[in-house]
Parts: sequence; structure tokens; C-alpha cells
Amino acid sequence: MAAATRVLQKAVSPSLVVVLGATGTGKSKLAIEIGKRLNGEIISADSMQVYKGLDIITNKVTEEEQAQCRHHMINFLDPLVSGYTVVDFRNKALSLIEDMHRRKKLPIIVGGTNYYIESILWNVLLVTGGSDTESEKGVAFESKTELEKLGALELHRRLKEVDPDMAAILHPHDARKLARSLQVFMDTGVPHSQLLEEQRGQDGGDCLGGPLRFKDPCIFWLHCKTNALDERLDKRVDQMLSLGVIEELKDFHQRFNERKIKENSQDYQHGIFQSIGFKEFHDYLTASEDISQEERNKLKIKGIEALKQVTRRYARKQNKWVRNRFLKRPASNVPPIYGLDVTDVTNWETTVLTPALEILDCLQKGVQPPAQPIRAEGEEPRNKRSHHVCDLCDKVVIGDLEWNAHQKSKNHLYQVRKRRKAEQTSDQDPKPTEHPKVSDGQVPAL
Ligand SMILES: [Zn+2]
Repeated sequence: MAAATRVLQKAVSPSLVVVLGATGTGKSKLAIEIGKRLNGEIISADSMQVYKGLDIITNKVTEEEQAQCRHHMINFLDPLVSGYTVVDFRNKALSLIEDMHRRKKLPIIVGGTNYYIESILWNVLLVTGGSDTESEKGVAFESKTELEKLGALELHRRLKEVDPDMAAILHPHDARKLARSLQVFMDTGVPHSQLLEEQRGQDGGDCLGGPLRFKDPCIFWLHCKTNALDERLDKRVDQMLSLGVIEELKDFHQRFNERKIKENSQDYQHGIFQSIGFKEFHDYLTASEDISQEERNKLKIKGIEALKQVTRRYARKQNKWVRNRFLKRPASNVPPIYGLDVTDVTNWETTVLTPALEILDCLQKGVQPPAQPIRAEGEEPRNKRSHHVCDLCDKVVIGDLEWNAHQKSKNHLYQVRKRRKAEQTSDQDPKPTEHPKVSDGQVPAL
């Protein structure tokens, strides 16, 4: 509520609208309807939709939809481009937004890809972001890759020399993060820790990143009961099949992937090749000509099942990101998030579109919207940088959450049992004079 008040004081109309939500929640549909009514244009914040090709599997808007409202950042990169980064995206998107403001258009960001959206909303000096999305980040600095080859121990040693503060809070085995911090120092001559500190010190900054770029963004989060969403996602995969997704994948494979596979240089980690649904059909697409129709069908079904599974997993991840990066964030540095429940969409116009338009109307008029922004409740602030050492596992763990998870992890519990057993065995040893150091059932303090 505090955030909403702040926005109302500072601005009359939203500088931009952001539509968040897991895949299958109808983000595009809402964005188009808002755009049509409020003189808006849409920026797709999706790291796969920037590429040409794979239109069905990456859920691109159709030509008819594009005709209803102008879309940007879709379909402009050759699939073989592999060096496109979030920095490229951010620069282009920010200049588009600026241009829209000049033309009195309302920018509507729809996504998609977590760190693409974050790069627009927050003035993050360096691209850091959440730890669980790193692999899909697509930030490919050549020298960082080179650095990583040095190995974590060496990287940690070097970082300790130039940036001991950063070295102290990074895991000594995390070559990727160590290399990144080291690279920041090499590129800027300033320790990474110091840059982050300065960034946090900027007005409105908080522990997760820089200050907000735009004063009054309006954010919608389309959310849905998990069961309903799962069902919808399955249906969506079936719909993709009827739209010809298999043919699309075959064609794309023949044009862009077959040669790579023959040269043994296939890479599902970069560019559009990491798109959900593509690698799931690898076995089917690369099956030998000689196999029977039955075997071929089996591979196809296997691909479809895998696609359904990764789609669900991706949707959960997207929601988790909204919770972690928006709802749990300190209210002072997060714009109001208006939740729209899309579990039942039989009356979509009444239950989704109308409330969204009402909120926007209020914001434009500078009055308090009837709907309250949502926040995660009962969340304790947690320390993402705290340093824990587990003697049992001989492991360093960074962050409170990670530490809690570690203490419940299979490996750790195994070590606990192992220790306990060892102690019991030593109890039974015929050394009656020696007291066991740790009594039965008591786990050493961690
Ligand atoms: Zn442990």
C-alpha cells in the first residue's frame, strides 16, 4: 500500500505497464486489449521470441494479434546468432520506451524472461540477478569463459587479492560467480563489491539491485491455481501439436541444427537452441531413417511428454521469480503489483480485463485504485550473503535460505547419520575408560 501511495504522489499516469505471469496465463491477450484501448505498444521481453523461427513452440503472437497492437522485439534475430545478451535487449528496449513516451504511446512490457524484465525495471549497473536463472542468462562474455577455465580455487585466490570483500561472500567453488566478479574488476578497475555497494547506495536502491528506472510503472501479475494452470499447459501443448509444432521443429532442425549435430557441435545452451521444447525432441529429430514407424512414434510421444513436463516446471519457476523478486522485496523499492486471478477465465472480460482497466484508469486519474497491490505476507528478511560452514560436509554455504536447505538436504542428513553411527561404533569399542566426545543422539552443533 505504501508503494501505491508513493506512486500516486509522484505521477498521474503509469509510465509503463508490465504484464507478468507464467506461461499460459494469457499475458499477450491482456496486453493487446490494454494496448488497443490505451494507445499502447507492446514490447516482448522474451529471450526466445527475439529470434526468427520456432514461432509455435516459443508462443509468439500471431500476425492477427500483431495487427491489433504494435509489437516490438519479436522475430528480428537470425537463429544462428549466439551472442545476443540481456544488455543488448535492455539497450534496445529502453530506447523503444523513450521513443514511445515521445510519441505519447503507453509502453506495455510482456514477459517472459525474468532478467529481461528486471533489466528494464531496475537500474542494475551490472547484470547479476537471481542464482537459479543463471544458466538461461545468455550473457556470454568471452573473457569470463576463459577465466572460468582457471578453476574455482585459482579464481578465488585471485579475487581475494583484488576484492577480498567479494571473495568472502562468494562460494569458493563457484567458478562462474568468481570469474564474473574478477572480470568486473578487470573491466572497470573497481572491485565488484564496491560497485554493488555504490549501486545499493543510490536513492531507492535495496539489497537486490539498483533503483527503479521508471517512477510509476503499473505491474499486473496474472496468477492461477496450480492445478488449473497445469491442465491449461497440457492443453496448450496439445494445441501446439494441432498447429503443427512437430513440422516446425523438423523444419527448424533440418535448417539449423542437423549440420551442427553432424559436426558434433550441437549446443542447446545458447540462443534459440535452448528454447523449451526443442531439445526435448532431440531423440525424435535425430532418429535414424531405419527405425520402424512404431519406434519413431514412441520417440515422438516421449518428446511430447517431456515438453509437457518442462513447460510445467518453467511455469512454476516463473511464479517463484515473481514471489521472490517482486512480492518479497522491500516495499520501498518495488512498484505496486496488482494480482489478477486467471484460474477461471470463462468470464475473462469481467474478471481480468475490466479490473485491469479500472486500475489503469485510477492511476491515470491519480486516484487510489479499488484493488490493493499484493505483497507476500509474513516473510522475514533473509540474509542472502551470510556465510556458513558445515564441518560435517566440509562445505561452505552462502545465504540463510541456502543454509536452511543444506541442513535439510539428503547429503547433509547422510553425513549426520554417518557421524552418529561412527560415534555409536566407537561407543561399543572396548575402551571403557574413554568417554565419547559426543553423546548418543546428539548432533554436534553446526
Ligand atoms: Zn552439511
